[in-house]
Amino acid sequence: MGHVERQHALLSASGAGRWLACPPSAKLEEQFPDTESEAAAEGTLAHELAEMKVRNYFFTKEFGKRKLNNAVKKLQEGKLWQDEMQGYTDEYLDYIKNTALSLKSAPSVRIEQRVYFKEYTFADPDDAVEGSGIADCILLYEDTVHVIDFKYGKGVPVSAENNPQLMLYALGAYQTYRMLYPISKVKLTIVQPRLDSISEWECASEDILKFGEYVKERAALAVKGGGDFAPGLDTCRFCRAKAQCAARAKENVRLAFFTDKHPPLLSNEEVGEYLKKGEDVAKWLEDLRAYALNECLAGKEVPGWKAVEGRGSREWTDMDRAFDVLMKGGIAPKEMLWERKPLTLAQVEKLVGKTDFQKAVGEYVIKKPGKPTLAKESDKRSAITNKVTAADAFRTEE
Ligand code: SF4
Repeated sequence: MGHVERQHALLSASGAGRWLACPPSAKLEEQFPDTESEAAAEGTLAHELAEMKVRNYFFTKEFGKRKLNNAVKKLQEGKLWQDEMQGYTDEYLDYIKNTALSLKSAPSVRIEQRVYFKEYTFADPDDAVEGSGIADCILLYEDTVHVIDFKYGKGVPVSAENNPQLMLYALGAYQTYRMLYPISKVKLTIVQPRLDSISEWECASEDILKFGEYVKERAALAVKGGGDFAPGLDTCRFCRAKAQCAARAKENVRLAFFTDKHPPLLSNEEVGEYLKKGEDVAKWLEDLRAYALNECLAGKEVPGWKAVEGRGSREWTDMDRAFDVLMKGGIAPKEMLWERKPLTLAQVEKLVGKTDFQKAVGEYVIKKPGKPTLAKESDKRSAITNKVTAADAFRTEE
């Protein structure tokens, strides 16, 4: 399995969005430890399960049901295991299965394939990690190389369109397979089941090669720590230097305090502009607070700030015994101490699985509109207003 090998490289595919936009970030990040968050460890586990399922589907002979069941059992023993991983990885497998079944002839399948893009990132040819990445699944069919990526995150939906990580995988795959397959098209897919999102994008193989030239330009700067810093909400999100980066601080201070507008009131145009500009300001302050707290806890000085104990909460040391005392003393009867609550719709769906849930009780579910929320213009959902139209008023009267 390749998952444990996902070590950090100076110019990694997963960090490509960052170092392509902000080349000096690659060198700057080097001085910060590369710690794996719990969410990332969870993702690794889900990837292992996903990989086994795809292997079992395409290479049943080598893999086999028994081997799969034993391997799954082992994964289930891990403390990060969640039962819903089964359903989510099935959705990923379904996408690959359906894609393969929709083709005129069976595709050539590569699972957890290490692909190389060394010549584009000036990586040492002997380094096992540098200048390479592991693609979750590559399908080769007709004139197409199709890179499919499984993302277990549920923070923000990731788009496949011009996605640098997948484009680097595609670049590596194209270089490896172009002699064997008549590739002229590249298809990229990101399956992100926890957000119910499947994003697909296609381009010509020449576009991938053009992207390769751009990668070369940016990588030449990045390996030397050169180029301009380019702070931004998405660029800085996972940067290891995000709390201490002076360029990000400078930019956010500029965004937060720069104004050439005249009081007393902002126009709606100005409100829209400030909201957009302020997005990373809020995130940056959060990162700064988290950093300062860690420093204070480590006994270092951050002038003007200190770490204190937050508001504590009370907990039973022995709830059963405490309840016993209350009941026996006649202070509170059992019915008052316990409440019986039905599981939420989402909890029931999780319990029985998406497909069974839909089949059994789907007809009893309606979707109520959510609370109005502010979103960017680029959001896929259509805009709503409170304005009552003549047609609405007529319907209400009826
Ligand atoms: S925090 Fe942002 S601006 Fe600073 S190095 Fe990282 S990506 Fe670049």
